[in-house]
Amino acid sequence: MIIAIDVGGTKISAALMDNGQIIEQRKVESIIHSDLVNLAEHLVKLCQGWIGKSEYVAIACTGQVGSEHVNFLSAKKKLPLKSQLEAGFNKPVFIINDAAAAAWAEYYFIEKHQYNGGVHGISKTDETLVYITVSTGIGGGMIQNGQLVTSADGFCAHLGHTSVQHIAQHSIPCHCGRVNCVETIASGTAIAKQASKLLSKNVNCKEVFQQYIDLPEIAELINQCTSAITDLIANIKATTGTNSVILGGSVGSSSLFFKQVTEKVAQLPAIYQLTVKAPQCGADADLIGAYYYAKHINNYSIQRK
Ligand code: ADP
Ligand code: ZN
Repeated sequence: MIIAIDVGGTKISAALMDNGQIIEQRKVESIIHSDLVNLAEHLVKLCQGWIGKSEYVAIACTGQVGSEHVNFLSAKKKLPLKSQLEAGFNKPVFIINDAAAAAWAEYYFIEKHQYNGGVHGISKTDETLVYITVSTGIGGGMIQNGQLVTSADGFCAHLGHTSVQHIAQHSIPCHCGRVNCVETIASGTAIAKQASKLLSKNVNCKEVFQQYIDLPEIAELINQCTSAITDLIANIKATTGTNSVILGGSVGSSSLFFKQVTEKVAQLPAIYQLTVKAPQCGADADLIGAYYYAKHINNYSIQRK
């Protein structure tokens, strides 16, 4: 069995998994914005009772996941999370970025179903798979020619830190050091911040969608966000040539947001046309992707021995 953990900006989800199936699962609120320095300890505690049963630990983690450190960009802090967790669990630990894990889960799903025509209608080896998550932040995962796009410092496929046009004239600073990154405009955090200002009270992104979406100023805010994501998708098309993108995350998957993006992509010039697809792996995609990616890397390292 394998322990899989998804460390997001809003929630942390842990599971004991076997054969790709979740046997037991625990979900808690994320502590990365409140107690980041104790993250490793927190994760080990969350998995009590499973550690003796598991072979290794697979983590999907928000942020810039490098080979040695995870740089939590929004918290402006770097942790040697892999070595901390290896010491805490006393087992091998594999870490990838959470959006990369979701991309891998979708890719694995294609492999599983390709003999039935392919769920996403792409063949596994010769196409590009791009996954965009619009959640607490905006993240991305890319697979090209069967390989996850990675870099030693983990700063790659971070689609949230590409800058896009914004209807408002002013520049919005991003925690990465640039301005007008799409994450500062259209992420769950950005939506909550802008809506709280418009409504003169503190609201989170889920409440914005569930309670205030019919207000004209909120509808216009969401309209600007979906335009920003459409701009991002056009940039992805020009960069990778992909025929489709998968749009996930709690914000990206919400029906209104997804519908608006799909409609706006259909209005792009012909060379930018592509299909926007919904994720197939559901809410546990990050866990499933971390599980299969760790298995993939583990098998590869066993073969090389
Ligand atoms: P994480 O970022 O921890 O991986 P999510 O993908 O669930 O987690 O994204 C969390 C963000 O999504 C928060 O900003 C939250 O307010 C927002 N959110 C959660 N549910 C919904 C919903 N049904 N509609 C719109 N936004 C949502
Ligand atoms: Zn940025």
